[in-house]
Amino acid sequence: MDRRTALKDATRVVVKIGSSSIVRPKSISRDFMDSVAEQVGRLRAEGKEVLVVSSGAIAIGLKAMKVTPKPKEIPIRQAAASVGQSILMKEWGDCFSRHGMLVGQVLLTMDDYSVRDQAVSLNNTIESLLENNVVPIFNENDAISDYEIRFGDNDTLSAIVASRTDADLLIILSDVAGLYDADPTSHPDAKLVPEVEDIDSIRHMAGKSVSGVGTGGMKTKLDAAEICRDAGCLMVIALSSAEDVVYKAATGEDIGTVFLTSPGISKKRRWIKSAHPSGTLVVDDGAGRAVLDHRSLLPVGIREIKGRFDAGDVVEIVCNGEAIAKGIVGYDSSDLARIAGRRSTEIEGILGHKGHDDAVLTENMALLRRRFHSVTPLGSPSAYLWNTGFLTPLSLWSFQSSYASKTYRLSRTTTAMFTHPITALMMPLISFISDTPTSDVTNTSTHVVTRSAFMQRGSSRRNLRLDSAIE
Ligand code: GLU
Repeated sequence: MDRRTALKDATRVVVKIGSSSIVRPKSISRDFMDSVAEQVGRLRAEGKEVLVVSSGAIAIGLKAMKVTPKPKEIPIRQAAASVGQSILMKEWGDCFSRHGMLVGQVLLTMDDYSVRDQAVSLNNTIESLLENNVVPIFNENDAISDYEIRFGDNDTLSAIVASRTDADLLIILSDVAGLYDADPTSHPDAKLVPEVEDIDSIRHMAGKSVSGVGTGGMKTKLDAAEICRDAGCLMVIALSSAEDVVYKAATGEDIGTVFLTSPGISKKRRWIKSAHPSGTLVVDDGAGRAVLDHRSLLPVGIREIKGRFDAGDVVEIVCNGEAIAKGIVGYDSSDLARIAGRRSTEIEGILGHKGHDDAVLTENMALLRRRFHSVTPLGSPSAYLWNTGFLTPLSLWSFQSSYASKTYRLSRTTTAMFTHPITALMMPLISFISDTPTSDVTNTSTHVVTRSAFMQRGSSRRNLRLDSAIE
């Protein structure tokens, strides 16, 4: 589906504006802010609802206070946010009122958002603002968010806002024109990718581009695209200085990079996935497999409990050192510590009461990564070679198309082969021949996970598909 068709019925649009678009070296860019307000007005006149996520508080505050903090100096940034946020909102208020609109400020912290009742109440506030024709303007509540509880960057925040409000489109305005097939700062011949169907298959293109005053780079934009994908929301990254950029992106014109989407996962699962976990359940291999197979987590599979939490909190589920899922836990941490490793039939005898058989029900869980697809000797000959560790790196190309976008658990021998210095030397060649991003081959102690490493040569659309296993 092309973007114009995909955006034909888009009514709710979130626009994220980065610090570098608002704060210029000498002043605040009022012309730009005014132009955004004018375009938002035009979109609203055409029946669209627009929500804005604006960065800039810290940068404006630092300028106003005439201070330059050292990289890790948090209190001064928090103070700057408190100064800058009010200046930022005054500027937005003035711009929107010149175009006949009222704005409302919504400041969020990850901690507030992770409490389910508060996340629901956030929705009520937003709906009420929109019903009353107010343009909501969001930012992280930087003045009180410390490192433990912060969203960290407004790319993520804007995707969470888009997901939470069931928006149809998120537009990220940036100082880069979109996603390039190589890092444009070091490769001047890098080409803009107009359309992406599968985020996982292009992660290697993101580079490390980080703009001057904001905290986001291309990586955080791709993380945002993943949150949007789960929500069935389209996302466009476009250059903030392009003419009429908000209007063009919202009406499906070819501008920047569009990230197409799939039907998405339920709102509850999206919330679980993005909520801040109150604790960690370390589980054994069998429980890990069950979780990835969409089955509930039983106390018997829990090895260790970290942190203190209540029943109903979100916890992270970790297997072999990797966070595989998040879920709403059925027992508090002290009860769970007593029944961990024990059969469900023993729960009542140990606790004197019993809730569920399960520690985390499957319907209260969101997977953080794709399930492993086991490769068995009964599969193709290449799969057999792969599984038994006889795969030669160059044969990657011969069967990559049939295994695109899947995740494999590899044998120790294959892991050893991938991490062998000679293979490492050959990786650029493999990468060149097969389009296999070597950075996607990550080594954990017992296995290698290749995520979208097997993208077919030429990245044809046919193969850049989403794997429905992720939920
Ligand atoms: N919330 C920060 C601010 O308003 C910006 C974070 C970001 O640049 O992503 O200054």
